[in-house]
Amino acid sequence: MADKLAVDGGKPVRDTFLPYGKQSISDADIKLVEEVLRSDWITTGPVLRKFENEFAQYTGSKFAVAVSSGTSALHLAMLAAGLKKGHEAITTPFSFAATSNSVIYTGAKPVFSDIEAITYNLDPKKAGELINDRTKAIVPVDYAGHPCAIDEFRDMCEDDDLVFIQDACHSVSAKYKGRRMGGLSDMTCFSFHPVKNMTTGEGGMVTTNNEEYYERLLMLRNHGINKDGVKRFGSDGGWYYEMQELGFNYRMTDIQAALGLGQLRKLEQFHQRRKGVVAVYDKELSGIEGVAIPFVSDDVEHGWHLFTLLFDKDYFSVDRGTIFKALRAENIGVNVHYIPIHHHPYYQDKFGDMRGQYLTTEKIASQILTIPLHHTMSAQDVQDTIEAVKKVTDHYRTR
Ligand SMILES: *Cc1c(COP(=O)(O)O)cnc(C)c1O
Repeated sequence: MADKLAVDGGKPVRDTFLPYGKQSISDADIKLVEEVLRSDWITTGPVLRKFENEFAQYTGSKFAVAVSSGTSALHLAMLAAGLKKGHEAITTPFSFAATSNSVIYTGAKPVFSDIEAITYNLDPKKAGELINDRTKAIVPVDYAGHPCAIDEFRDMCEDDDLVFIQDACHSVSAKYKGRRMGGLSDMTCFSFHPVKNMTTGEGGMVTTNNEEYYERLLMLRNHGINKDGVKRFGSDGGWYYEMQELGFNYRMTDIQAALGLGQLRKLEQFHQRRKGVVAVYDKELSGIEGVAIPFVSDDVEHGWHLFTLLFDKDYFSVDRGTIFKALRAENIGVNVHYIPIHHHPYYQDKFGDMRGQYLTTEKIASQILTIPLHHTMSAQDVQDTIEAVKKVTDHYRTR
């Protein structure tokens, strides 16, 4: 007889809670931050520009604009693309709500399109069918770190004169056909929230190869102010600036940028550690009947932000919610990424009841669980997670 589940009063697999994601900050990172704190510039100064330059270089893009969060990165990209009321942006319902919220901030409408059953990413064929005169942008997400169908989306956007805005909040460590995310779409948005693959506390970045977008992103980050007046008024106009349009204060501090520099320099090391965890998961979890591990396309290097398991309903006596509770009781910090965006009450109130329209999203979303994956996990953490998954699936197995 197998061990009694913790949820039924048995002993949990581990004593302490293991979260699904977590940051790692070194003494070197703290030293970089301290140097900024002791300097004259703590915001929009030299360290911020250094972080932007190194990030652009790392991603293989021409320009990088650091901002206050992944959400503000997306918002500014939508604005720089010219999105406004009357426009539509095609995006995935299988994401964090920030992706489509940022479309709504501009007055435009997010139009959802279903995902591929294999990668869980926006299906380019289905998305293409929704393009019409109002469509201004396509906004795919690199779900869990698996790059979206970049070539297909880029071709589609070129053919129809649309802006390709990539939500790469999961995929800073990924590669697509050997190239990093950043220079492959019109604008690429990153997040540095602590659960992401690198962190600045809160923070984000937009990268682009397009100088016009770059100038607009800089201006919109800073209230819509530019200093072109300086050029017009010559040397007397040192004090002069103009607010050209309604922008925001979405600036990142040099304090955060210093942390970002430290993290960026260790990102490859973080990635290798995550890959090591994934290799063990692949080996130990791929043989469990009724449980599917993530698919990885041959032409990508997966960014491994999340590691998900898909539980086939036909193999278990209970639903995903019960499996979630059982694993949490074992102190394994499983999570659900994501509740489909169109299920949120705000979206239902604003756009009507869209449930039943995106069947692949709904099926995957009802069967998926994220298990812990971060670059600070110990071998014991990995073994505990595997043991708990086996314990719980064995217990509830019907065949
Ligand atoms: C985290 C995340 C965001 C938002 O980033 P924040 O930095 O938290 O604002 C947007 N899209 C996706 C897919 C994310 O995972």
